[in-house]
Amino acid sequence: MSTGQIYQLATAERKQQNRFRQLRPLATTGGAEISLDGERKLINFASNDYLGLTKHSELKRRAIEFTEKYGVGLGSSRLVSGNLNVFEQIERKIAQFKGTETSLLLPSGYQTNATVLAALGRKRTLLASDHENHNSITTGIQLSQGDWQRYSHNDLGHLETLLRKSADSAKWIVSESVFSMDGDLSDVTALSKLATKYDAAVYIDEAHATGVLGSEGRGLSYDANGVDIAMGTFSKAFGSFGAYIACSNVMRHYLVNFCSGLIYSTALPPPVLGAIDAALDVIPSMNEERARLLEKSETLRNQLNKLGFSTGNSQTQIIPIIVGTDAEALSLASYLEECAILAPAIRPPTVREGEARIRVSLTAVHTDEHIDQLLSSLRRWKASG
Ligand SMILES: *Cc1c(COP(=O)(O)O)cnc(C)c1O
Repeated sequence: MSTGQIYQLATAERKQQNRFRQLRPLATTGGAEISLDGERKLINFASNDYLGLTKHSELKRRAIEFTEKYGVGLGSSRLVSGNLNVFEQIERKIAQFKGTETSLLLPSGYQTNATVLAALGRKRTLLASDHENHNSITTGIQLSQGDWQRYSHNDLGHLETLLRKSADSAKWIVSESVFSMDGDLSDVTALSKLATKYDAAVYIDEAHATGVLGSEGRGLSYDANGVDIAMGTFSKAFGSFGAYIACSNVMRHYLVNFCSGLIYSTALPPPVLGAIDAALDVIPSMNEERARLLEKSETLRNQLNKLGFSTGNSQTQIIPIIVGTDAEALSLASYLEECAILAPAIRPPTVREGEARIRVSLTAVHTDEHIDQLLSSLRRWKASG
């Protein structure tokens, strides 16, 4: 087999398993609607723009203001000449928002997990990671020199066993606060208590909580004491791009010296910094939007359950409709698309075997009519057997 054929075969296998993924051109049409392949409009239940900030006037205005002032790029890594003075201002704002000593801005959430965890996992370091953690977390741990152990999803007993058995000199507990595929929560306070008992540290990924949960959208680590590193993205509820680490001065100094994703990557561009800066001003005041979003989510879950659909342990705006096989998830997704609804099928390896699903993300811009249309389509699907 030639080199090229090896990759062709691997891709063909994905197709055979109903696991082929494809990029499709789309255009946003404002609000919660989207047009796919230049054709019909669909209701978009596939976006993480939870508060509708991607098109917020103040975010756009400040992105333009920063572009006019500083240009569209910074030309090098922050450690070389890219550390525009606004980084420090924004990092102070983030620290204040998260209630931590300091913070560190990094390029994307993926890059943050992949390179911060790689830096934290030194030799003789336990990295105890929840089984359902995001791919970027697993990548970071695999890149590290630490001792990778996974505990069953949200299983504190299993986690405690790993901590008790560990002979490593440094120990980290790594978990998301809101899990991205199930929309369920970890018990951040309980994780912190376990960490104290075993002299471990806690790393919490708040990608889906930042802006949505906790007092004024500050995430679940804000109200729980004892989180050493809270990581979050500006690419979901914050509406733009980039990520942060909220931590102590000690951790920040360490990461500036050891985190490859900061050291060897170009600084975030000014328009993105403008959008982040504005979102930090806007997000705390959106309590009403947050409350309504969580209320709508609860109502939708209840109605889905009444129709006989399993929504797993979801407690948030991320609502899985778990159907089982890959083929069934794909067929439901394409049925929904015929009904002008975009809600993606999520299949292994992203989720466990036999738990293929449709993943619905609700946002503040979905109307009752959008949700009713989703429910009536699903009702017809159920009725048709
Ligand atoms: C989306 C996501 C990331 C990656 O963030 P990006 O800013 O999109 O790169 C990391 N962790 C979790 C849990 C996520 O869902």
